[in-house]
Amino acid sequence: MFRATLFTLYPDMFPGPLGASLSGDALARGLWSLETINIREHGVGRHRAVDDTPAGGGPGMVIRADVLAASLDAGLPADDPRPRLLMSPRGKPLTQARAREWSAGPGVVVVCGRFEGVDERVIGARGLEEISIGDYVLSGGEIAAIVLLDACVRLIPGVMGKTESGADESFEGGLLEYPHYTRPRDWEGRAIPDVLLSGDHARIARWRREQAEAITRERRPDLLKTRPS
Ligand code: SAH
Repeated sequence: MFRATLFTLYPDMFPGPLGASLSGDALARGLWSLETINIREHGVGRHRAVDDTPAGGGPGMVIRADVLAASLDAGLPADDPRPRLLMSPRGKPLTQARAREWSAGPGVVVVCGRFEGVDERVIGARGLEEISIGDYVLSGGEIAAIVLLDACVRLIPGVMGKTESGADESFEGGLLEYPHYTRPRDWEGRAIPDVLLSGDHARIARWRREQAEAITRERRPDLLKTRPS
């Protein structure tokens, strides 16, 4: 089973949106599990401090290496097989391919940063892989972790209605998805493209592929360069 363990200063943010709809139903059905560990449990001193001022000066606070390491060491068995991810704007981009890879494995360990981030030393010492959800800065890693988990969970076998419903989607096969239509057939003077009502499945498939390629060329030409052939 896909097990998610989150290290956070805000455990109340979970499951949050992951408790609703597709991912929430799957959680209730036991297709995946979610555990949160409050980093503050290993804070130091009477106030359980988790952060301190940056060495070298500058604004903000940094999560202490010793505190985060103690939390990880206490919360995970030494032989835990799961990848250990750190949400970070400096990380490798989250992609559909990575989400698919993780969804097929034993789950993920996700560390949520706050403030200016975490002490660099703990990243190397505990083998954390930095992952970014995009080129913008959030106030904390929790929402990024929810994004990552949502992308993984919907791909776990049995979570989506039909097993094939993930295969055609945007980014699978390196293309954005073709356009969708449903009833009514005519709406505000706009008709559903005839080909989709033709019943000719080969023609429909060809039209969809052409549309997907045209939309990708227009909106995201960068995807075509790295497209798997
Ligand atoms: N000072 C850092 C930003 C810290 S933002 C920098 O300039 O790189 C605080 C926390 O929010 C980060 O530690 C990270 O866990 C999370 N975060 C912010 N933006 C993110 C993004 N685009 N992807 C993933 N996590 C992000």
